[in-house]
Amino acid sequence: MDTPLLPDDLARFGADPAAAFATNLARVHARIAAVCRRAGRDPASVRLLPVTKTIPARVLRQAFAVGITDFGENKLQEARDKQNALEDLPIHWAIIGHLQRNKVKYLVRFAREFHALDSLELADELNRRLDAAGRDLDVFVQVNSSGEASKFGLHPDDLLPFVERLPSFPRLRPRGLMTLAVFSPDDNRVRGCFRLLRTLRDQAVDINPGLAGLSMGMSGDFETAIEEGATIVRVGQAIFGTRPTSDALYWPGFAPNSK
Ligand SMILES: *Cc1c(COP(=O)(O)O)cnc(C)c1O
Repeated sequence: MDTPLLPDDLARFGADPAAAFATNLARVHARIAAVCRRAGRDPASVRLLPVTKTIPARVLRQAFAVGITDFGENKLQEARDKQNALEDLPIHWAIIGHLQRNKVKYLVRFAREFHALDSLELADELNRRLDAAGRDLDVFVQVNSSGEASKFGLHPDDLLPFVERLPSFPRLRPRGLMTLAVFSPDDNRVRGCFRLLRTLRDQAVDINPGLAGLSMGMSGDFETAIEEGATIVRVGQAIFGTRPTSDALYWPGFAPNSK
């Protein structure tokens, strides 16, 4: 099943992508361990979810070969295509981006977790399709912690009423809250988003103890997120290199190795 890499892949990922990914992964784990030490946290309390969006399936085989087995994808169609191409590998797929209701049926076929639950309509559709498939799904409720119109997620004021409704969807296993911090080089503004999510989590667990997780932090801000209590960091560029079409264009702090 080994698909040869293309010249474009080598230009983007280097002559030996597997070695580069392994080195970068070890660096990210070391940074997680270091910040945990500083913050007095157990490194085992932070899970690294590698984000594989824009990486072609043939290159992801090399990532799998060096022990990367959880793949976070933000676009359902892209995830689906890769899942088809990599069906022979036991990959744990996580959908981390906004989902339209008409795509739910595809997600239910292969995703193990979903980090962008942000409406009752979506919860209802997921629950219905999961029930038909006879399976459950780990979910994180996305909150818009930055107040930016461009970001998805529930308004913080709407979170607790939403959490009250989760028992209506027994196929959803609530695991925590998820957010994207503001894209800003100002660490205090970024930290404010993570703090808000933690505060909301502390309230949400009183209603539903399953919601203890905090999915927050990306390549540019995962250390801050861990200081503020992240239990899952979603990291792409620090492992796989800068994305060519990148969000890094908008915000230099977004790029890996900027710290
Ligand atoms: C792309 C993405 C990430 C990872 O961003 P990097 O800069 O590659 O670390 C994390 N979460 C979501 C929702 C994303 O879309």
